[in-house]
Amino acid sequence: MQDLQGKFALVTGVANRRSIAYAIAERLAHYGARLAIAYQPAEKSGAEDKIRKVTDEFGPELLLPLDVTDPDSVNTLYRTLEETWGHLDILVHSIATAMRDELSGRPSDISLQGYLLAQQVSAYSLIELMRGARPLMTQRGGSVITLTYIGSDRAVPNYNVMGSAKAALEANVRYLAMELGAENIRVNAISAGPIRTVSASGIKDFLGLLHNAAEKAPLKRNVTQEEVAHVAAFLASSLSSGITGQTLFVDAGYNVWG
Ligand code: NAD
Repeated sequence: MQDLQGKFALVTGVANRRSIAYAIAERLAHYGARLAIAYQPAEKSGAEDKIRKVTDEFGPELLLPLDVTDPDSVNTLYRTLEETWGHLDILVHSIATAMRDELSGRPSDISLQGYLLAQQVSAYSLIELMRGARPLMTQRGGSVITLTYIGSDRAVPNYNVMGSAKAALEANVRYLAMELGAENIRVNAISAGPIRTVSASGIKDFLGLLHNAAEKAPLKRNVTQEEVAHVAAFLASSLSSGITGQTLFVDAGYNVWG
């Protein structure tokens, strides 16, 4: 993976060491990429110190606050990247949220407010982040990677509002790939099997989901953050130069079941 040497990568969605984005950032750094980590600012101060500690092992060059519901925050982040690096080769979008009580119960009870929040943060934010990344990628092309889940396509118990958001996200991947291919900017999604993280713990009976996936998957187990990160490194590199607009499953084969 020599060709990640010196590439500029923005990784969003690192909350802690269990985050899928953490494993991806670690892998990209391992293969020589230069990192900017975007973290969600907390209401209390200290978010930056926490992320600095968390990412200490691979020492990102930049730690930047990012709240995708705040356009000023997105603009400030890209202004900093433009002034500091002037280029971006890799964008990792690993962001999702939903109201907790809308990851349980009846899909017919989803509120408009909850629906719009899930769509804005989990699906629209890819378009928003892409818009900022594009001018930094046009000169030499780029690779954009987002994270999705099979609940976009199948009715997974309790995934509810996030199923609609992931369906929109995967459609965004295809449309953005179509538009940006002429600039050699590739856009792909990884559909990961269930993994224990903070976001996942918000889904009612997530342990049941994990066990079911391990039982049914051809490999008879769950996947790890590291396995997802390996595929992200592949998608970030020129080894995947012919791939765009795709959703690649990293789920121990679960998606072929049934
Ligand atoms: P995580 O909780 O570690 O990561 C989610 C991230 O989204 C956090 O870092 C959080 O700060 C960020 N975020 C939420 N709202 C934000 C906002 N307004 N602005 C900026 N950042 C915001 O959990 P994770 O499981 O690593 O999730 C990463 C991605 O992987 C998500 O898109 C998730 O849907 C997807 N995914 C997760 C699983 C799983 O089972 N864990 C499976 C498939 C896909």
